[in-house]
Amino acid sequence: MTSRLPFVDLQAQRRRIGPRLDEALARVLAHGQFILGPEVRELEAKLAAFSGVKHCISCANGTDALLLPLMAWGIGPGDAVLVPSFTFVASAEVVVLAGATPVFVDVDRTSFNVTPESLELGIRAAREAGLAPKVAMPVDLFGQPVDFAKIEPVCRKHGLKILSDAAQSYGGAQGNRRVGSLAPVTSTSFFPSKPLGTYGDGGAIFTDDGEIDALLRSIRMHGQGIDKYHNVRIGLNSRLDTMQAAILLEKLAILEDEIAARDRVARRYADALDGVCEVPRIAAGNVSAWAQYTILIEDRDRVAKELDAAGIPTAIYYPIPVHRQDGYRHFPAAKGGLPVSEELADLVLSLPMHPYLEPADQDRVIAAVRQAAGRS
Ligand SMILES: *Cc1c(COP(=O)(O)O)cnc(C)c1O
Repeated sequence: MTSRLPFVDLQAQRRRIGPRLDEALARVLAHGQFILGPEVRELEAKLAAFSGVKHCISCANGTDALLLPLMAWGIGPGDAVLVPSFTFVASAEVVVLAGATPVFVDVDRTSFNVTPESLELGIRAAREAGLAPKVAMPVDLFGQPVDFAKIEPVCRKHGLKILSDAAQSYGGAQGNRRVGSLAPVTSTSFFPSKPLGTYGDGGAIFTDDGEIDALLRSIRMHGQGIDKYHNVRIGLNSRLDTMQAAILLEKLAILEDEIAARDRVARRYADALDGVCEVPRIAAGNVSAWAQYTILIEDRDRVAKELDAAGIPTAIYYPIPVHRQDGYRHFPAAKGGLPVSEELADLVLSLPMHPYLEPADQDRVIAAVRQAAGRS
């Protein structure tokens, strides 16, 4: 009997920085400023510097990090937000919560990210549905930044704002710019299994725009004016706990090193599995944060079952594209349908991926995939 591999090994990371984390948490317990304590400001400053932007606004989770900018922009009834269907449901959910309408667009089969062609078709579908297209929300799926050079001209032509859903790509880069600085407003998540994950929920928004920064700080604190009991707009309670900020400060210190380790794991997978299945491709100049290592493989459900029997956990992100989910099927979609999103849902399989995946353990995954694919 061989042991079962973890899908994401948070304990290996804890063995590396455990004492530092314990000390950081003890400091918060000692000073007792649990809401917006000094670690929150310190983390925001360090994240802004890491990303190369002026402002970082932390909040309660990655979903709120998407909702808050929509609220700040006054997006609401009659407005359309263009969202890929092949994503985690939160990307579309926040649009509905804001009172606007998600209009689903398709993705590229190789990058898993929104295509400019589908964005155009989605904008047309929004107008035909009597909606005003206001925002495009490209998602950096599985960790690879969206091709902004291709998306931006479409958005500019139609007067759309860009809200980048970088929940899976924090730590990644495009050219000489890091995620956080690639779009006018970028949101990310610190959910435990994300590339920069904490021990609970957390999120953040990145921007160079001072006006948006001030609005977001007000909205995350019940729409506060000069203080919490002076309320000048509708907001919500969405702050990052000081405890989580203290943890994230320690994890941010090793993020660059961890992204490099994830990249080594990804390259090893690609070398061994190319030809056995379709392996993910990263465009020249991009650095993926490798939130997931997702292959495309025929007979996916059988392969997943065989890997499971060999003690290798896998995950399916995502088995149902959002436009086919019961809560979302009545919203408009790009003209011509979303064939790639639908095809991907049947083929994707995410393999164990984390910075501490040892070569011997990775070889077990590779051997099991080869065997399940009939190429051992
Ligand atoms: C995780 C995730 C979110 C939401 O983040 P939470 O912190 O879980 O609220 C949003 N979009 C995408 C693409 C995600 O992967």
